[in-house]
Amino acid sequence: MTAQQGEDYETLIQFLYQAPIGLIQTTRAGDISMMNPMAAQLLMPLAPQGDLDNLFDIFQGVAPQLRELVDAFTADSGMVLDGLRVATGTGAHACTVSLRLLKLRESALMASVTDVSAAVGREERRLALQLGEAARIDSLTAMANRAVVLDRLTYLLSDNRAAGVRDENFAVLFLNCDRFQRINDTYGRAAGDELLRRIAARLNSVLRPQDSLDSGFARPPTAARLGSDEFAVLLEDLYSVDDARSVGQRLVDLVGEPYRVDGRQIDVSVSVGIVPGNRAIGHADDVLHNASIAMREAKLAGGGRWVLFEPAMRERAALRGSLEFELRQALDQQQLLVVYQPLVDLTDGRCTGVEALVRWQHPQRGMVSPVEFIGIAEETGLIHALGEFVLNTACRQFASWSLNLAGASPQQLAVNLSRAQLTDPDVVETVRKALSGSGLDARRLKLEVTESLAAQGDLVQQRLHDLKALGVNLALDDFGTGYSSLSSLHQLPVDVVKIDRSFVSQVETSAHHRVLIQATINVAASLGMGTVSEGIETEGQAAILMTLGCQTGQGYLYSRPLPADDATRWLIERDRQFPAAAPIKAPA
Ligand code: C2E
Ligand code: MG
Ligand code: MG
Repeated sequence: MTAQQGEDYETLIQFLYQAPIGLIQTTRAGDISMMNPMAAQLLMPLAPQGDLDNLFDIFQGVAPQLRELVDAFTADSGMVLDGLRVATGTGAHACTVSLRLLKLRESALMASVTDVSAAVGREERRLALQLGEAARIDSLTAMANRAVVLDRLTYLLSDNRAAGVRDENFAVLFLNCDRFQRINDTYGRAAGDELLRRIAARLNSVLRPQDSLDSGFARPPTAARLGSDEFAVLLEDLYSVDDARSVGQRLVDLVGEPYRVDGRQIDVSVSVGIVPGNRAIGHADDVLHNASIAMREAKLAGGGRWVLFEPAMRERAALRGSLEFELRQALDQQQLLVVYQPLVDLTDGRCTGVEALVRWQHPQRGMVSPVEFIGIAEETGLIHALGEFVLNTACRQFASWSLNLAGASPQQLAVNLSRAQLTDPDVVETVRKALSGSGLDARRLKLEVTESLAAQGDLVQQRLHDLKALGVNLALDDFGTGYSSLSSLHQLPVDVVKIDRSFVSQVETSAHHRVLIQATINVAASLGMGTVSEGIETEGQAAILMTLGCQTGQGYLYSRPLPADDATRWLIERDRQFPAAAPIKAPA
């Protein structure tokens, strides 16, 4: 080394000695032979006793693997460790250093220690920000989530805004897809998720300010997914509540247009509950809850519509809530029973069958009508247990009549199936079991499905065919009240059409209704289907229906629905009054 080189080397050492980076030279065993002041300063927090003799000992508490790493490094020289991050202090003394370890030769190591606290802090802040944002974004749809809606709503509900007065020109819309579970069950969860993403995209596109919806709001609406199949939309700066109504209708229309997922068409409707700002009381949570109550009313009214919140809805919701709780108990505590309403041949007066109808003998409220609880049972999934109970009870009762009443026993048993039961894949098996458990011939059982239901999609059609394959008959209940028309009757695999009471009750007074009934009977007959008139209350109605060609009647004129024992007495009495026609004797 020349003198000049020696001088330069000395300068370099001095430079490195004072550099703002910790430099340490150690033996292979970690004993420190040289360290600059920066290294001492950075390592001191790790050696509270001031013992800075051995690098491995210093790091023992936070990076105990160093010795092993060096032992495992068999090459003569090279980088053993490149930037191990170690926290050297906590709280106010929090500091993170980055440690690099270089093997110079077999007996010497070189280490560098850099203070990376600032970079780590920046990174942490960025992550925290990202996490904070993530906590406000729905991961499935990338929409805002519930927290965002609640925050914004809290702001809108406060009267601390710039002007000092609460501006009520906002509205909360709560959306829930109708019967979404059915979509998951039928097409699988992945398709269900994809559908939710599509719905989110439609909501976003509908609500973009440049859209024709822009009439009412200066500030863009907040659209969010609240969870599962629930969404919320917050409209601000509306001119009037009417704007919220028209947006509600528009959402119902646009979200309800058919979707194509994986090459299949999926139809889904949406129910919307609206709370306008001037009816928004309480905290943000309360307002959202009230919107959900209005949404539930929309569902109970059949779905695919919007409903404006009214305070009385809260009581109704509470009542439904308690009914739901009590209905669960009712199933366990055998408060449900089945009553039977006879069906009568209009030409000879004989009983041809009975329809099983469920009743709830409530300990306080007395007899509760199925109209009040079937909807709740459907919503809560209790309908499956309830339906199975009715089916099994009725099948057993019918088998007992067949065994004990001989000629007086009814020929057919009708049992109602609700919408939720018909979309349940297990329903076919449930019916099969009820038949085999009671020994009932499948041809004796008639399952009643409502008109609006039978007209729905391929799935329901398939289920109806599966049921028919068991050998049972199908009846189309409440005909005339739903959407399907006479012209689509031929598409339904049903054996009997039950003309709704709302038609029957007018048959004496309205020529229009008589014409409709006549047309129904004719079309049904041309398709080989029978007809039953529901809710016959007068002899006059019965007589007209018979002349119109209807074969069978059911209604208070003949009997109200009766508990099994009373029904048994009724059947025996009816058989006595209207005996089977005596067989025609062969001529002698
Ligand atoms: P639905 O199947 O159309 O049953 C006929 C309804 O009309 C029964 O009401 C019956 O009591 C009533 N009704 C019969 N004749 C007359 C009459 O002459 N005048 C009047 N005003 N009403 C008459 P209910 O028992 O209250 O049942 C109502 C509906 O609840 C049923 O309509 C059916 O859709 C449903 N439902 C009843 N039991 C069950 C069940 O076990 N499962 C399911 N899923 N639904 C059921
Ligand atoms: Mg029925
Ligand atoms: Mg009916």
